[in-house]
Amino acid sequence: MIAGDTTMSLDTSTLYLVATLVAALLGVMLLVFGRQENIAALKWWGAAYILGAASVTGWTLASSKLGSGLSLNAIGFVACGMVWNAARVFHGRRTSWPGIVFGALVWMATLAIIKADAYALRVTVGAGIVAVYAALTANELWSERRKSFKRRWPTIVIPVMHGFVLMLPILVGDLLRDDDGSFADSIWVSVFAIELVLYAVGTVFIIFMLVSERAVRAHKVAASMDPLTGIFNRRGFAEATTRIIEHEAAAERAVTVMIFDIDHFKSINDRFGHAAGDYILKEFAQIVSNTLRITDLCGRIGGEEFAALLPCSIDEALIAAERVRCAFEASSLAVDGAPVETTVSIGVAGGPVGTELDVLLAAADTALYQAKRSGRNRVVSAAEEPLSLEQGRRAIAKAGHSGSGVVRRSGVATVSEAGA
Ligand code: GH3
Ligand code: MG
Ligand code: MG
Repeated sequence: MIAGDTTMSLDTSTLYLVATLVAALLGVMLLVFGRQENIAALKWWGAAYILGAASVTGWTLASSKLGSGLSLNAIGFVACGMVWNAARVFHGRRTSWPGIVFGALVWMATLAIIKADAYALRVTVGAGIVAVYAALTANELWSERRKSFKRRWPTIVIPVMHGFVLMLPILVGDLLRDDDGSFADSIWVSVFAIELVLYAVGTVFIIFMLVSERAVRAHKVAASMDPLTGIFNRRGFAEATTRIIEHEAAAERAVTVMIFDIDHFKSINDRFGHAAGDYILKEFAQIVSNTLRITDLCGRIGGEEFAALLPCSIDEALIAAERVRCAFEASSLAVDGAPVETTVSIGVAGGPVGTELDVLLAAADTALYQAKRSGRNRVVSAAEEPLSLEQGRRAIAKAGHSGSGVVRRSGVATVSEAGA
């Protein structure tokens, strides 16, 4: 650990000035953005940075004028608590005032109990407080990012690095002091100032990443949900089920699709009014979601048509479909005291592993048509397994044909033959 004067020519007070200004500037930015977008967590975060910057400034001034301003550090610890609280608030948890002031209280107690000449011990406690807050913040951000694994590393790496850098003098403190106490102190102070800037910028980067991802997610959710029933709309259902089909196909597992069509729904609208019709739709969506398993997906794919995808064999799915049919028939819904007879027809179709959603839906639709034709209020399964587009392609290639348009038609043709 030997360094000449030339290598350590960083002026620590300038570094601290830069660190303080950067933190204050980021704080103002976060506050303004938080107010503009009305995001409470950003306001907390911005206020924390401004308070942190004020604490460092106050401490620097007090140290030069009064010789010591250690009690001012308590404000800095409150700022750390506020950063942690911002991360909590960000994913909907309540503000924890005891948590915010806890570090500052520990610090005040430390100053009262540990004598000034045990400087190293005081620094150790101080660094420990910051490290604990950094770890807590990392933990909050980490759980917020659990939805997407790919890019969550910065949310943990940056706060943990911060905590680690702060803990470093505690871990290697004696080593440094043995060599040359004053050098160790000055290099440490410089490293700390630089790290402070990087941490401040890094965490702001994380929070903006989280905010923008959350906004994108909210818009995506809104675009894939049916506002009346609160379940997937056709688009959301297609997106979610395509992912499941791929996932199940990778594990060589089959899936089953069913289409529900409420019987004589037009007549319900005509007799009881459109609002009553809407009520029945909502109730039906509820019955489907409650009757199927949590791993099954359902969506409203048309006016009074719903679909579900079950990651199971057609035999199991037929049992589930029958449960939905019975539950809807037995639901004894009423409009203005008058009972409404409610029944549903269901078409069910499975296919070879990896069969595309469109192919399965077409097959289930044909089965549904059969259910309607043979008297409604029943479950009918596709008479024949549909051919997946991929299989169709291969079959045609074997027979010496080519062209995907032909394949598509042949895939659906197999289905309609099965139903007819
Ligand atoms: P079937 O047993 O053959 O299925 O007869 P149906 O009357 O259920 O079928 P049809 O397709 O003739 O009628 C569907 C009706 O659903 C017509 C349409 O007005 C109504 N509908 C579609 N969307 C909504 C909606 O969002 N709310 C309400 N209340 N009615 C809707
Ligand atoms: Mg219909
Ligand atoms: Mg209908």
